[in-house]
Amino acid sequence: AAAVAAEESSEKQGKVDGNGSRILVFVRLRPMNKKEKEAGSRCSVRVVNRRDVYLTEFANENDYLRLNRVRGRHFTFDAAFPESATQQEVYSTTTSELVEAVLQGRNGSVFCYGATGAGKTYTMLGTVENPGVMVLAIKDVFSKIRQRSCDGNHVVHLSYLEVYNETVRDLLSPGRPLVLREDKQGIVAAGLTQYRAYSTDEVMALLQQGNQNRTTEPTRANETSSRSHAILQVVIEYRVRDAAMNIVNRVGKLSLIDLAGSERALATDQRTLRSLEGANINRSLLALSSCINALVEGKKHIPYRNSKLTQLLKDSLGGTCNTIMIANISPSNLSFGETQNTVHWADRAKEIRTKVRDANEDQLPVPETETDQAKLVIELQKEN
Ligand code: ADP
Ligand code: MG
Repeated sequence: AAAVAAEESSEKQGKVDGNGSRILVFVRLRPMNKKEKEAGSRCSVRVVNRRDVYLTEFANENDYLRLNRVRGRHFTFDAAFPESATQQEVYSTTTSELVEAVLQGRNGSVFCYGATGAGKTYTMLGTVENPGVMVLAIKDVFSKIRQRSCDGNHVVHLSYLEVYNETVRDLLSPGRPLVLREDKQGIVAAGLTQYRAYSTDEVMALLQQGNQNRTTEPTRANETSSRSHAILQVVIEYRVRDAAMNIVNRVGKLSLIDLAGSERALATDQRTLRSLEGANINRSLLALSSCINALVEGKKHIPYRNSKLTQLLKDSLGGTCNTIMIANISPSNLSFGETQNTVHWADRAKEIRTKVRDANEDQLPVPETETDQAKLVIELQKEN
């Protein structure tokens, strides 16, 4: 029993085992909003024990009491956040360990998905008073760097981009669409702004500005960015000495992704997926569904090439990355269909396994002359 418990707890942590590491999947329930209350909504979701999510189509107090006899279903996640969960709590539980791994030179990614209005942007970006995962992660990066060194050895770069209608745009410097290219680091958006960040204070304003640049649909002007995906990439680079005392350059990349609204586009079975593809609702989101399906089924070929989003996320999804998913849902029975879809999809994402690679490091060239050697020693002494 102890062995089982140990195995279970290493599973929960997303630790690497024989089959690789599992994606961590979280669900966040947002509070009922005014519009939903005014429409006489009932609550159709209940989060229990910080892990369990109960969905009940016709929920009221009596239904809760005899949950198994009504059309209720129960799901368990790595954690589930009730309406009352704070931004800090969501960040600490989902992402803070990942930030530690990225600071050790690994890649990681956090996705928020769910229907429009379910709380994705609130979770990722948040507000000035209640900053979300993107801002709290960067704050954490800077405070962890400060704890480690005070000599500027670490360099932090941010880029913020959007995929809308299969077009990639730079949110920090809007202009012409960016072209994706494959280089030795993987697929990159050519010409994307790499903003060198020095402190958290500048970052919130920068990201809010970037969010203003997200594409809004003319027909849904009040619901910003319902079909655009926003990706914040935080790249942390620094030098260390490896076991053989060589100087190596370590690079960790954290991708934080606010996906487009998933309404009508999340499909858990192939047939629905195909009919949706016919309707061409959101190619990138459908392609993401296909990749996840293929990963879950252990297929050899994962169709990353099918969309811009999946190309950009190739190193953040399957192979070599620590991946976290946060599914955002509304409590209202009026959104029950979407909530059900999101939760089913999240449940399926739990099956994905990834293989986490060693830290990304490049050995620096061996100095050829004594002067170079001396320079390097001085540099390193400065760094330590
Ligand atoms: P999405 O990005 O999924 O379309 P938003 O994050 O924009 O949805 O959320 C819709 C509205 O609900 C926003 O006004 C947002 O501030 C609010 N909201 C979402 N989640 C929460 C939460 N956990 N607590 C308080 N307000 C929230
Ligand atoms: Mg949003």
